[in-house]
Amino acid sequence: MALDSAGDTSLLLGSQDVPPVLEVNAAGRSPYLVTCDHYGRMLPKALGDLGLPESELTRHIAWDIGIAGVATALSKQLDAHLIAQRYSRLVIDCNRPPVTPSSIPRISEATTIPGNEGLAREAVDARREAIFDPYHRHIQAVIERRLREGTPTVLVSLHSFTPVYAGIARPWHIGTLYNRDTRLPPLLLKLLRGEPDLVVGDNEPYAVSDETDYTIPVHGEARGLMNSGIEIRQDLIADQAGQQQWADRLARIFSEIETMLRTQQLLPA
Ligand SMILES: [Zn+2]
Repeated sequence: MALDSAGDTSLLLGSQDVPPVLEVNAAGRSPYLVTCDHYGRMLPKALGDLGLPESELTRHIAWDIGIAGVATALSKQLDAHLIAQRYSRLVIDCNRPPVTPSSIPRISEATTIPGNEGLAREAVDARREAIFDPYHRHIQAVIERRLREGTPTVLVSLHSFTPVYAGIARPWHIGTLYNRDTRLPPLLLKLLRGEPDLVVGDNEPYAVSDETDYTIPVHGEARGLMNSGIEIRQDLIADQAGQQQWADRLARIFSEIETMLRTQQLLPA
């Protein structure tokens, strides 16, 4: 197993590795800008398998199972720009401030990550410079371009959660995640709760905070954009049919919210 201990940041992603940022529908005309921090579970070749078997590298600790299909279909249906990150959160978590210990987790749920043990400062920096920074720089640049062009922008950050965490079953089908925005999350909660078959979490199974999140605080709240996170339970979106159903449902709900925001003059009429 090779580790990125060399300190030369250009060594982390080589010619056989794909770029971290994936874009779908970059010319989309929707006010929704969709992000997906845990879209993929790729590993840079230089990191080998992080010392983990395939069974660990494919489960929820490595990525948000099912969300890639939902995000892609939703982006197309809403005609919304999607910015996603392809590498596993076990390499570096793109929704954690890089200063927190869980940024490059040594343990996730009950799994120790051998390839994340005892990393030199240079190795930590290399992961940030190769994956975290380009992803967030790109989101920042897209938001700045939209603001410059006067394009209304509502940030939606898509995630999925494991149905059972540390032995505890979670009852929610979907949850909204937010902190400071008081405009979008109440509308989202109201419409989701209007769906008769759903158990909806209000800041469940997670709430957004400056300590545990990055995308919403930095790109949404600090810029004053309307924003919300969405968490969908992974067993509901494990296959393509489920992903499509949830994309259809969310597209319908977000379209309805767009109309409401225009009526409330929170978006241009
Ligand atoms: Zn996630």
